[in-house]
Amino acid sequence: MPVPIFGHRFGRSGVSDTVTIPERSGVAFTLSSGQTLTVIDPKGMQVADLLAFNARDMDEVISSGRTLDYAETIRLTTGHSLYSNRSNILLEIVEDSVGLHDFLLTPCSRETFVHFYPDLPQHRGCFGNLAAALEPYGVLPDRIPVAFNCFMNVPVDGATGKLRVEPPVSKAGDRIVFRAAMDLVIGLTACSAPASNGGSFKPIAYRVD
Ligand SMILES: [Zn+2]
Repeated sequence: MPVPIFGHRFGRSGVSDTVTIPERSGVAFTLSSGQTLTVIDPKGMQVADLLAFNARDMDEVISSGRTLDYAETIRLTTGHSLYSNRSNILLEIVEDSVGLHDFLLTPCSRETFVHFYPDLPQHRGCFGNLAAALEPYGVLPDRIPVAFNCFMNVPVDGATGKLRVEPPVSKAGDRIVFRAAMDLVIGLTACSAPASNGGSFKPIAYRVD
């Protein structure tokens, strides 16, 4: 399948107006080196899962393990970089009005719903939404890694290691801004899991500058 990456889709012409991702859905798009991606929580208390691939070699992909190793913290915010599986910087966080995000947990999926919400209607979740959005770029589902979960609130008990998923602390209009360090393919969702989003599903907005 041809991969619609290069040509006119790169360059400053890629600057966008603010785009809304409807609740429980996802998108994929290109982001040129040097451009910024602003992810906005328009209503508050809503998670957005973010993936990034090297647009020129899709085997290079965002890596939670590399990033947390180099950052020496799980609290990533302004000044931190998000690394690839090859230890290259894909994105730098240049602005962050929340300061509380997650890079431990994988995108919610149909199996997540079976595990945590057996009595609720099933949903393909962020995983299914990312897989569908990234399919035109040649990404198979098994290549989807841990996402950077913007605004997701996962407190860790430092003594026991116990994880919890709490409602995001983001308020309406809060944002996190990333600068691309190379040409990228981005996957981005409005998360579908009840616990991650304070029990209700809201849109996410983004813009490219
Ligand atoms: Zn999700």
